[in-house]
Amino acid sequence: MTHNSKQDFSKQVAIITGGGTGLGKAIAIELARRGASVVIASRKPENLNSALTEIVKQNSSATSFQVDVRKPDQVKALVEFTKSKFGKIDILVNNAAGNFLIPSEKLSPNGWDSVVGIVLNGTWYCSSFCGQEMIKQKSGTILNIIATYAWTGAPGVVHSASAKAGVLAMTRTLAAEWGKYNIRVNALAPGIMITEGASKNLLFDTEDVQEKILKKIPLNRFADVNEIAKLAAFLCSEDASYITGDTMTADGGRWLSNGILSL
Ligand code: NAP
Repeated sequence: MTHNSKQDFSKQVAIITGGGTGLGKAIAIELARRGASVVIASRKPENLNSALTEIVKQNSSATSFQVDVRKPDQVKALVEFTKSKFGKIDILVNNAAGNFLIPSEKLSPNGWDSVVGIVLNGTWYCSSFCGQEMIKQKSGTILNIIATYAWTGAPGVVHSASAKAGVLAMTRTLAAEWGKYNIRVNALAPGIMITEGASKNLLFDTEDVQEKILKKIPLNRFADVNEIAKLAAFLCSEDASYITGDTMTADGGRWLSNGILSL
């Protein structure tokens, strides 16, 4: 691919949480392919190693770091590692998440803490530690992966919806506070992607459930992680240099299709 000047990431350093699987891996591949120095960060070495192998197969390279984003000390270590290896942090993609389907009345305090810990606290710890570096650099961009239920709510995922709503508020708040440091903060709300983690945990890994969901998507197909990764790259690129505090929705029109005529 020929790089166009504004979407060339060759001097950029990017941290992608949850970069070993699903959408995070696709974003890591996309940014690495366009020349970024990419650090993928999550808990399981097997996820990180298989993603690294895949990135190398595509003639790009990346580095991994083992981290549980719920632990501030580990997030601090990730930021220190990235700074000592690459000298700076230009891009943070808060993509790591946990989720499972459960009626709210059955959700335990542990289940709540676990999801909110990864999604809301983890996004804050990463944004806070990376933000401190970006403030010193007077430049940076943060992209938070959320979901449309951050503003609609959704039965069965009260933990995740509440946490993603918090991340949306965090996105707007940090954009307003950190614009003066030349830091942009945005959110991206993808529609349903058939990734292994999500489809198993949210029980849409069977054909009949997928058929039912498809009927509710105006574009009549699921999202491909690679098309969402390209949007993530756009929001992190200089082409989006005047966009901050915004949420890009890429869900095939799903969240708009709850009217009577859509039954
Ligand atoms: P996924 O494959 O399950 O990815 C989740 C990632 O988060 C994994 O790589 C996991 O790696 C990492 N992770 C989980 N807990 C962590 C922790 N405590 N510390 C660090 N990393 C942790 O899911 P996905 O479908 O690609 O989802 C990616 C993002 O898109 C998420 O933010 C999700 O909410 C959002 N999203 C997904 C969909 C969908 O339909 N798939 C729809 C809307 C929004 P380890 O297990 O190695 O830690």
